[in-house]
Amino acid sequence: MSPRSNGEPGATTDVVVIGAGHAGLAFSHCLSESSVDHVVLERGEIANSWRNERWDSLTLLTPNWQCKVPGFSYSGDDPDGFMAIPELIEFMDAYAAHSSAPVKTQTTVTSVSRDNSTGGYSVTTDAGQWHCRSVIVASGACNVPVVPKVADHVPHGIQSITPHQYHSPDQLDAGGVMIVGASATGLQLAEEIQRSGREVTIAVGEHVRMPRVYRGRDILWWLDRIGISNERYDEVDDVIRARSLPSPQLVGSAEKATLDLNTMTANGTKLVGRLMGFDNDVAQFSGSLRNVCALADLKMGRMLAAIDEWIDDNDDASSFGAAQRFAETKVNFPFIILSITGRR
Ligand SMILES: Cc1cc2nc3c(=O)[nH]c(=O)nc-3n(C[C@H](O)[C@H](O)[C@H](O)COP(=O)(O)OP(=O)(O)OC[C@H]3O[C@@H](n4cnc5c(N)ncnc54)[C@H](O)[C@@H]3O)c2cc1C
Repeated sequence: MSPRSNGEPGATTDVVVIGAGHAGLAFSHCLSESSVDHVVLERGEIANSWRNERWDSLTLLTPNWQCKVPGFSYSGDDPDGFMAIPELIEFMDAYAAHSSAPVKTQTTVTSVSRDNSTGGYSVTTDAGQWHCRSVIVASGACNVPVVPKVADHVPHGIQSITPHQYHSPDQLDAGGVMIVGASATGLQLAEEIQRSGREVTIAVGEHVRMPRVYRGRDILWWLDRIGISNERYDEVDDVIRARSLPSPQLVGSAEKATLDLNTMTANGTKLVGRLMGFDNDVAQFSGSLRNVCALADLKMGRMLAAIDEWIDDNDDASSFGAAQRFAETKVNFPFIILSITGRR
């Protein structure tokens, strides 16, 4: 299964894979299995996004049993646990070694162009050029933070950072913190920052609410079981919408705790609607907070009903816990404006 290419710049190979994350390494494994000559070009190290673009305390929200890539899967003794970043990096390094992936690290691809003389491609990097018949772009979907335009108007003197730049609460300027976005990242950061003793406000838009555990099983086990995780792009009603759905409000922890807006407000966090703009130092929010929360509650109810139905149709209901419904999201008086400098 070893690749033929010596992987050096100037080489001609069948396939250049750009990026040594999960996707790039998985492609490399499959290409090697089919004896296709290739090289994987990586601008940093293997698992670079996990090494450099995640905060310090992050644990995966997907359980260990879900950590599987072609030809390799989690083999530890805690399948229902959640990996922290160092374990995940170890997992990916082990995968690359297992596949003998021909990775060239510290090699940034700067352009890909058609090579008319060969009908293939020239791949230019900061370490030289490769020539190949095909290119696989596995450079990641989460590497460029999506920052809404409104961020351009954050009042002068207020620190504004993306999750890529965030490592821990210590790096934040003194004072309260507003988190914009209430999906997995927003809620996990809100919880950590709130625990560090800051006052936290979350601007909440559309979100996906889920309990961590339902009827005795992890919710992602259920989504796997009832087939939602395996839905193909041509089995969903609207693939563009499906791809842009926010990640579910989940956190991976030993306690298997649920993380939702109710747990946040119970800890003293303030909820506001979607951030719409600034009028000098006053932040303005959409009045849709109640609606987006009601919608998320409704959709969670539908998902739990689908699980209940699946159990009734397919399995012995007595082998699972009882069906359960959760309290609706509590929205107290939602602010639509808030002074964020505390000057008024
Ligand atoms: C905060 C956060 C938490 C997440 N938690 C989970 C989770 O719990 N469970 C889960 O399954 N998923 C999670 N994800 C999603 C997960 O990170 C991605 O699905 C996964 O990393 C995708 O793998 P990838 O190989 O496509 O991209 P990446 O892992 O981003 O890999 C892309 C690689 O391409 C390299 N690259 C980019 N540009 C170039 C270039 N020009 N030249 C050379 N190399 C280049 C990058 O350095 C990187 O190594 C999370 C994502 C984020 C942002």
